[in-house]
Amino acid sequence: MTHDFLLAGLIPLHVLHHSVEGEIYGQAMLDELRHHGYRIGPGTLYPLLHRLEERGYLKAREERNGKTMRRYYRATPKGRTALEAVKPQVSELFSEVIQGDRHPPQRSRSRRRTTIGEPS
Ligand SMILES: [Zn+2]
Repeated sequence: MTHDFLLAGLIPLHVLHHSVEGEIYGQAMLDELRHHGYRIGPGTLYPLLHRLEERGYLKAREERNGKTMRRYYRATPKGRTALEAVKPQVSELFSEVIQGDRHPPQRSRSRRRTTIGEPS
């Protein structure tokens, strides 16, 4: 039994993280995610890369690779800022889920609240 839909929300963060670290492209990212145990296919990843580009988190460039064009992606300044902005939530989720923390730190919670679901 798999729980893909529970993990689906982590994939954009994962992609953004690696695009901040360096240039990524579809096949390498698929390999990376599968290595981490995500069951994901190009039909899910490529639209995601496109959406992240459309929303300004990633910037793409194309380069010929043999007979095919390969699209390389890198995080934009907005993408880098966004990843920084959601780190408190990622960290608190990790603390609660993995370390069993019951109460995330109360201090400066309002400052750390990140707007989600903004219209694209
Ligand atoms: Zn990774």
